[in-house]
Amino acid sequence: MKRVIVTEYLEIDLDTEEWCCRCCQHKLISVHKNYKEGCLVYARDPSSLYPPHVPAERYSFAPDKSICYFVEFYCPGCGTLIETECLPPGHPPTHDLELDLNNLRTRCSDGTE
Ligand SMILES: [Zn+2]
Repeated sequence: MKRVIVTEYLEIDLDTEEWCCRCCQHKLISVHKNYKEGCLVYARDPSSLYPPHVPAERYSFAPDKSICYFVEFYCPGCGTLIETECLPPGHPPTHDLELDLNNLRTRCSDGTE
């Protein structure tokens, strides 16, 4: 089994072509899909992360939830927070990682990775 580290919390299994959690080795989803589709998702109201500093205060530094919300992606195997992003309401998760598997296999076989 050949695994390649991609981010702090993600690696890929070149044999099965799956995204995996680096903390627990849980297989998330095919590398041909967005890894976020294999994660647990928690969309959070910004005010839950940036409450007012004074309890009686109405305003805080939180962005308006009609403009954006924070989305957290967790490993279903161990609960590690893999990624977060700030998105406008209704926007799908961004597809931020796409790998050239053939090039990666070549680099792994010649020892450069
Ligand atoms: Zn995990």
